[in-house]
Amino acid sequence: MAKAQRILIVGGGIAGLAAAIALRRRGFAPELVEQSASWRALGAGIALQPNAMQVLRTLDVGADIEKAGAPLRRFNYSSQGGDLLCEIDLVGLWSRMGSGGVGIDRGKLQKALVQAADGARCRLGVGLTSLRQRKSFVSVGFSDGTTADYELVIGADGIGSTVRALAVSDAKPRYCGQMAWRSLAPLRAEFEDEVQFWLGDGCFFATYSVGGGRTYGSGYIAEASPRREPIEGRLARLRKRFASFPCPVRTFLEALERDDQIHCSAVEELHLPEWRSGRVLLIGDAAHASSPMMGQGGCMAIEDAAVLAELLESSDSVDAALDAYARRRRPRVDWVQAQSDALGRGALLPAAVRDAVLRQQGAQQFEARYAPLLSTP
Ligand SMILES: Cc1cc2nc3c(=O)[nH]c(=O)nc-3n(C[C@H](O)[C@H](O)[C@H](O)COP(=O)(O)OP(=O)(O)OC[C@H]3O[C@@H](n4cnc5c(N)ncnc54)[C@H](O)[C@@H]3O)c2cc1C
Repeated sequence: MAKAQRILIVGGGIAGLAAAIALRRRGFAPELVEQSASWRALGAGIALQPNAMQVLRTLDVGADIEKAGAPLRRFNYSSQGGDLLCEIDLVGLWSRMGSGGVGIDRGKLQKALVQAADGARCRLGVGLTSLRQRKSFVSVGFSDGTTADYELVIGADGIGSTVRALAVSDAKPRYCGQMAWRSLAPLRAEFEDEVQFWLGDGCFFATYSVGGGRTYGSGYIAEASPRREPIEGRLARLRKRFASFPCPVRTFLEALERDDQIHCSAVEELHLPEWRSGRVLLIGDAAHASSPMMGQGGCMAIEDAAVLAELLESSDSVDAALDAYARRRRPRVDWVQAQSDALGRGALLPAAVRDAVLRQQGAQQFEARYAPLLSTP
């Protein structure tokens, strides 16, 4: 077991909380700092695919998440006119994992992770503000004026990572050409266990159940450059953009009541040649944010956390564990990023071309994209 008595996790999102849970289960006693003053999860809903659910089950939090969310067993792609383009049986595809995925309200996912991380020392309202690498430890400064030394600092502080900027790289995320409009509506999904996509020209809409009589919906709209969408008028603008989409999309948008129910953000990705510098390691979006087209960003963050904890336990030193981590995670994460890019480009093809490809090869392409994720992370 790598001798790491003092481990700091920066960020209490999916990656940071999963790391806290996984490390505690392996006998480490990590500290976690989260800059927000309370636990809050932006982005409405999330689909956790079977590779992530399998890891979460090994962390003893899978059952709580399944209970709090809704099962996802099929992907269904239709044209803007409502014609079925292709259907994917997720349970069949992921049969080696024993189940499909789970759709869940992000707030409920966070609650389950926070509960499972119980016992990790979490400080809310405290951000990392400075960082200095020494020979075999890292000196860190926090926003509350305190300082401390750690043998390992895990940067799980998201796509705009401060840890990355201070210690690893000044690379900036790249805009992927789409804005995402996400929300939760008080509405039972038409098909409870299905992720449905309706593909239009320069835009598409996706919905799935998150359980509890609520549905997640996200509209993706191609824009040449990222836009700051004022909250006021968001609902009217979204309804207008998708007014010609089939009934389930319009019903979803009718069920929303307020502009502030809609979370609007640019779709971005980040490619780094290295995720580590000395005793500082980036995980989750801080290291490798990908466009959400594979629905794997959060899933990769969960896998990162579990693999890191396993390697810290099984390696003789922190350095050996971090070397092994990069070797093990790089091919899988690169694959997801490349496939997400390809899907993002495909979604923006002229509708006639894209629809024909999906009709003829959609299911086979889908299987090929996900096949490598059936193996152990
Ligand atoms: C439109 C869209 C849809 C998506 N859908 C899916 C999906 O269906 N399935 C899926 O698996 N993934 C999905 N993703 C990706 C997923 O949301 C991310 O990969 C995941 O949330 C990353 O988690 P994280 O913990 O790495 O980062 P974050 O969630 O960004 O968490 C970082 C945390 O660090 C904190 N922090 C930041 N700076 C500091 C600091 N200096 N000190 C202390 N704390 C700090 C932040 O407050 C935050 O709580 C989607 C993404 C988008 C944009």
